[in-house]
Amino acid sequence: MPLYKTRAIVIKSQRWGEADRIVTFYTEQVGKVRGIARSARRMKSRFGSALEPFRLVELTLFEKNVESLARISQVDIADSFERLRESLPLMTAAARIVNFIQAVTPDRDPNHAVFQTLRDGLSALESSDDPELCALLLQIHILGLTGFRPQVHHCTECGVSAEVSSMRFFAQSGGMMCFPCSERSFDRGLSISPGSIAFIQQARRLPFDKITRLRASGQIRQEVKQAIEAYVEEVAGKSLPSMNLYSPSVNQPDRFPSFSKEYH
Ligand SMILES: [Zn+2]
Repeated sequence: MPLYKTRAIVIKSQRWGEADRIVTFYTEQVGKVRGIARSARRMKSRFGSALEPFRLVELTLFEKNVESLARISQVDIADSFERLRESLPLMTAAARIVNFIQAVTPDRDPNHAVFQTLRDGLSALESSDDPELCALLLQIHILGLTGFRPQVHHCTECGVSAEVSSMRFFAQSGGMMCFPCSERSFDRGLSISPGSIAFIQQARRLPFDKITRLRASGQIRQEVKQAIEAYVEEVAGKSLPSMNLYSPSVNQPDRFPSFSKEYH
């Protein structure tokens, strides 16, 4: 029976049956993985609060084979990230981040950089004075570490550089399109200014400890937020909920309330 011992971050916790929980983790060793915690909802559960979302834990998992659901054997809290539960803006931003990780990472595809950035990102979020922007920067940066990088340097159709042509952002095309190419598209796309393009490029390129110092307000913030939300929605194939940490039951389909569609 294979055994995994790994650091992990709890990204989703679902009630299962009478007293159990099915928990999704993003782990350092095996990437995203689900496991069942038997009796986790009993009053005196040995798991305590370790299976709540955002916890950084030392996890021990047993599994018979890859097809079967792993059994959560032991969980010890390494960092509780308790501050993330202290205010609605922090909790909303943290929920957005874990829902994003749930949506854009494949099962059992370890990516050490994603794990490290997620852990450092939750830590940075705890002391952030702008949680919404911190969550946005984290999403842009993690997209850059995965196979889902939005194209923000060239037109996705003809390849012309963003520096020489005015651009619009098309989530469905995977990034920007120059004005002549966008004229041929049925979709109008989203307006995106050179300042917003430079902001996304920086958030992708700079090391994570530097990007948390980036600031955006007004038009740039609005444009970047709309473009990234539309893009993540496209990649995930559905709208991400801003708060959906505890699904009612895994037997019921997840409900994904739509984002505001004001950018259409
Ligand atoms: Zn073009």
